[in-house]
Amino acid sequence: MKTLYRQFTVATLFILAISILIGFTIANIFYVSITKEETIRQNVAIAEEIVSTVESIPYSEESFNSYMQAVAKLGYQIALADSSGNMQFFGEPFDDITFPEPANRVLTENETYTGVDNLTDKIFMIGHFTNELHNTVGVPFERDGERYGLFIRPDTKLVSTDIHSVLIGFVAAIALVSIIGMIFMARQLTRPIVQLTEATKHIARENYSYPLDIRRNDEIGQLSESFNLMQKQLQHNDLARKSFISNVSHDFQSPLMNIQGYADLLKSPNLAEQDRLAYTAIIDEEAKRLSSLTRQLLLLTSLDQGAYPMKVKEFQLDEQLRSAVRKYRWRLEEEDINLSYQLAPTRFHGDPELLDNVWDNLLTNAIKYNKSRGSIEITLQSDETGTIVAFKDSGLGIPKDALPQLFDRFYRVDAARKKDSTGLGLSIVHQIVSLHHGTIRVNSKEDEGSEFILHFPHP
Ligand code: ADP
Repeated sequence: MKTLYRQFTVATLFILAISILIGFTIANIFYVSITKEETIRQNVAIAEEIVSTVESIPYSEESFNSYMQAVAKLGYQIALADSSGNMQFFGEPFDDITFPEPANRVLTENETYTGVDNLTDKIFMIGHFTNELHNTVGVPFERDGERYGLFIRPDTKLVSTDIHSVLIGFVAAIALVSIIGMIFMARQLTRPIVQLTEATKHIARENYSYPLDIRRNDEIGQLSESFNLMQKQLQHNDLARKSFISNVSHDFQSPLMNIQGYADLLKSPNLAEQDRLAYTAIIDEEAKRLSSLTRQLLLLTSLDQGAYPMKVKEFQLDEQLRSAVRKYRWRLEEEDINLSYQLAPTRFHGDPELLDNVWDNLLTNAIKYNKSRGSIEITLQSDETGTIVAFKDSGLGIPKDALPQLFDRFYRVDAARKKDSTGLGLSIVHQIVSLHHGTIRVNSKEDEGSEFILHFPHP
């Protein structure tokens, strides 16, 4: 596998090599276009200075040699050529003393020789440092009626002073520190990724409590924070899924057992008519409960999977609420509950079939959890923010600590309160309202009643 660490190391070394190459090229261009000409000019000027001194003062052979040696000591390599081809050297010896062909013109034509110009065989400025006779500047001069050529070059050994060693050390230190820093950074960057990979493997094995402790103030820190959040959410979902399965099993199991038990009793040959009717009523009730549970579960699952085909259209919401109330007239009368409503004529944009489930659930809850001779009040109104529907009852109310779980699946404030209770109604309401981009607010006081306020923003 190409590890990130290896890729990072190789990439950095590559960048380092490329930058050295580019730096070298730029330095060469700078040398060729600016420094070289200047150096040649300076060297020629020094050679001419030496020559003019030698020509103006009548030196003896001995003092001439001492003068040349003194100049050499100042940091020059000097070659003296006469017209018969004899050579005399002062200062550090040259590595190659082959007399270059163009240098002859110094003696024959009185011309100036600039050897560095002709160094085409060496890589750019490296040629500048070659210790060879042809890498010199030469000027002609006359002494005792004889023609000479004076060829000089700065002695690189003397030129490369301490400052050069300091510079080389500086560059080497930068390179070394960069490489070490890069290795350290690569480790810092890849370590949390390895930790994250390990944590992902644990999640794949359904272990949601693997600790991931990456505290950083950067994108990786954010990633690990999101990862921890996801881990918590997955843990929560896992628990919800498990409790959902256990709730479903339990809610199916108890009516089925009741049906089975009462069906067995019905088999008894000498059963009183009154008991027979009572048992069949229980079987009927339990079958209805199972049917409603299955219907609600199917609806919830299809809403969950986003598989429910929403059939959105414009309709009169006040009319829909009125007909929902009409369905429950008999039950309201039976329970002696007084229902009033104030429904402003409202055009609404939504799925009427889904919304029917909302009104159905809220209304049956307001009836189920009401007191005898209680009241229900339904209002529908619109303002500039949207459409507001409220169901207010004078029922049992909901304890404060139960409110946060009210919309959870299978949550019942008091499981023994009502027989036809599944704990799924409000979670269906919540899902459908969310699908319509709406929100629900609950105001409730125990023993006084509850109010469910639904707000749908305008489309
Ligand atoms: P179900 O009514 O089938 O139990 P819901 O999800 O509709 O399921 O309601 C969840 C719980 O919330 C109910 O069991 C009940 O305890 C409480 N609840 C719902 N509506 C009301 C209400 N209007 N007044 C008092 N309690 C309510």
